[in-house]
Amino acid sequence: MSDAPKTLPLVMDAPRGRAKPPRHLADLTLAERQDAAKAAGLQGFRAKQISVHYFERLVHDPEQMTDLPSAQRAELVSTFLPDLMTSLRTQSADAGTTVKTLWKLFDGSLVESVLMRYSDRATICISSQAGCGMACPFCATGQGGLQRNMSTAEIVHQVVVGARAMANGDVAGGPGRLSNVVFMGMGEPLANYRAVMGAVRRLTDPAPEGLGLSARHVTVSTVGLVPRIKQLADEGIPVTLALSLHAPDDELRNELVPINNRFSVAETVDAARYYFDQTGRRVSIEYAMMRDINDQAHRADLLAEVLNERGRGWVHVNLIPLNEVRGSKYTRSRDEDMDEFVRRLEAGGISTTIRDTRGDEIDAACGQLAAVEG
Ligand code: SAH
Repeated sequence: MSDAPKTLPLVMDAPRGRAKPPRHLADLTLAERQDAAKAAGLQGFRAKQISVHYFERLVHDPEQMTDLPSAQRAELVSTFLPDLMTSLRTQSADAGTTVKTLWKLFDGSLVESVLMRYSDRATICISSQAGCGMACPFCATGQGGLQRNMSTAEIVHQVVVGARAMANGDVAGGPGRLSNVVFMGMGEPLANYRAVMGAVRRLTDPAPEGLGLSARHVTVSTVGLVPRIKQLADEGIPVTLALSLHAPDDELRNELVPINNRFSVAETVDAARYYFDQTGRRVSIEYAMMRDINDQAHRADLLAEVLNERGRGWVHVNLIPLNEVRGSKYTRSRDEDMDEFVRRLEAGGISTTIRDTRGDEIDAACGQLAAVEG
């Protein structure tokens, strides 16, 4: 692996000079919330009470926060729980167990999140940026470019609303618990590193500082920003890392995942292995199966080789049947080619699954989030 420092692409910088999203308690640690309460002329312990409402009881309506004196309630809510986003539309599929929400942020930016309930868990797929600057040609989000980074609270709030919907029994199947979070909605999470790390901490901090989810139930998915993968490996929070590889060779990956022109397949897979070494967490390799593009038998063999060169038992391959995006030349692989691909990876000793795709009829599946109104 080369040690030469590489400049990160310009698209990783947050746009400057724009109004910021409102500050919300989810942006702050508990200690910072206590300071903010005092700065607003409120008692410090009120910060903890309101945190319990937000993260533990999942209460939305200030009227239900009866332990807060009514004279201070409005002040506390405006200090800590400003409106971050408005739901413009929800759509459901899979008998009501998949729910996609279109959100409008304070400045009009649009993002989407998707809640998916399974028999044994409920997962929310959240956005970390409005749009995306990575320009992968087979992904709908990539076509519109990057609008802006989301704040920590904007990221976290999608999860809190999902947890609330599960707790209240608003999702088919009755009341339940939101257990998993995947950063696989709009945006490249590692291009918004600070806010995303803040969100990961808030999601995994024990209540009432945060939502108290298990780090291993939080998955951060990336196109492969190599320096950021290493930084994440050194954070000491064992989230699951998913790497969107999609091709085992530089020639094809340069086309499918343009950031590969900066960080090669070898450097990217080395960084993924480093992640495993530092955290002990098996890395998930995402590979969208595109007909006659990346699904040939020789590419399956090469993928197995590229992964096995770096050891055994450290990765799992997740094949995603491509969700076709309007106006794109890429189409979904034939079933027999997917089966052969799996067979070859498994023959190479690589554990492999084909992802069950949810929500494609409401454009909620992987790579279909475009956040358009109408
Ligand atoms: N930017 C991050 C997070 C988005 S995750 C990343 O790329 O990893 C979305 C996942 O869906 C990624 O693995 C992405 O490559 C994949 N994806 C994108 N477009 C898709 C499509 N049309 N069909 C299937 N998977 C797709």
